[in-house]
Amino acid sequence: RPLVAIVGRPNVGKSALFNRLVGRRVAIVEDTPGITRDRLYQPAQWRGHHFTVIDTGGILFSDQDPLTVQVRAQAQIAMEEAALILFVVDAASGLTPTDQEIADTLRASLRPVLLVVNKTDNTRLEQHAAEFYALGFAEIYPVSAIHGHGVADLLDRVIALLQQEKALVPSDLKEEEESIRLAIVGRPNVGKSSLLNAILGEERAIVSPMPGTTRDALDTHFTWSEQPLTLIDTAGIRRSGKVQGTVEYYMVLRARTAMERSDVALVVVDAEAGITDGDKRVAQLAQEAGRACVIVVNKWDLVDPQILNSKGKLSAASRSRILKFTEQFRRECSFLDYAPLAFVSAKERFGVTSAIETAIEAAQNHAHRIATGELNRLIHEAISKHPLLDKGRAFKVYYATMVGVRPPTIVLFCNEPEMFHFSYRNYLENQLRAVYPLEGTPIRFLTRKAE
Ligand code: GDP
Repeated sequence: RPLVAIVGRPNVGKSALFNRLVGRRVAIVEDTPGITRDRLYQPAQWRGHHFTVIDTGGILFSDQDPLTVQVRAQAQIAMEEAALILFVVDAASGLTPTDQEIADTLRASLRPVLLVVNKTDNTRLEQHAAEFYALGFAEIYPVSAIHGHGVADLLDRVIALLQQEKALVPSDLKEEEESIRLAIVGRPNVGKSSLLNAILGEERAIVSPMPGTTRDALDTHFTWSEQPLTLIDTAGIRRSGKVQGTVEYYMVLRARTAMERSDVALVVVDAEAGITDGDKRVAQLAQEAGRACVIVVNKWDLVDPQILNSKGKLSAASRSRILKFTEQFRRECSFLDYAPLAFVSAKERFGVTSAIETAIEAAQNHAHRIATGELNRLIHEAISKHPLLDKGRAFKVYYATMVGVRPPTIVLFCNEPEMFHFSYRNYLENQLRAVYPLEGTPIRFLTRKAE
């Protein structure tokens, strides 16, 4: 049974929530030391799904331990044991430094964290919206554990997350890992292996003797002008005789698997073939996975055999070929308008260096953070310049914050989330792109209703 842990400082209502989740009406709050750990684990179920809840607040420490040490340890236990963490804060008292400490600990967690704002029965969430979002968790659930308000919504989300456990792993988790992970993906025969060899053959690519860990057995670690890079290889996925699958099936499977662990997708396309539906599928996978993306237009030597003859500069003819291809790509793949194009010939070793540099830049943009003050100023300005109106209502954003990177993820705390449609989203996105270095990375917007 998956374990759901309740974490939070004393008196925020953890026990009340615990009792609510395990379906008990009377709160059994025992302040006496010596309570056995086993008592804290209780079975719960919701809509036919079973799980176990643990109230980490019930794990008692000696009175000598400072509060922060205790709550840290509780959060640690939750992170180690639970599949999902409910982090409870108190709307009536607002945030405290102890809440911040817990948040700092939880942010390093591999587990999804839902921020539960308790006691919203007589306090409006809106009053504290800014500080709650500043904790850095994208999902906030206002509840009243005593009265039961909001608990059903919370449980629905708990069940959904337990079913797809990995879904909410914080996107900036890998921040400490300095290596940029590149996945070379694309249709068969576009030149992926050739590109990989060309990259590793470049003088600047120093392949380190560091062996891959077991999980990374197929990955190639190397440094590029002092920047550690990892090429994610999917060579392990082969057509097996037993499993029937189309070429398309294997293409998608390989691309998905590689992108799961990457920062940047190098989507290789064949210059001579132009942009095919298969190329679009692969690029779309990169977008859906939230990866940064560079379109590597390979075999450019077949389109422009003269390109190497120019002395470091492109001829006017070569430049116009590049422009023409770019324009066509932009027309056909408007959904990828943020992805830069790199023109290369893996065979002639042309453009490989600049493709890698473009990818490194895309990875940096993928992790770009925008300070909350600036972000709010920009969003408010953009909205007042072009208000979004519908049937007499105006779309309002009370507060915007970046809750994660890789890709940059922004939560808009607003009055009417359903008004925030595709084209307005694009409008705000373009305003951000005009100001910040975000080339190569998708941007995610989440909306939350503030009331
Ligand atoms: P993969 O299936 O995507 O890994 O593609 P390969 O790297 O095996 O390449 C497929 C074919 O395209 C091979 O015959 C390569 O020699 C050829 N090829 C790869 N890159 C280039 C290039 O830049 N120019 C030309 N002319 N041919 C290339």
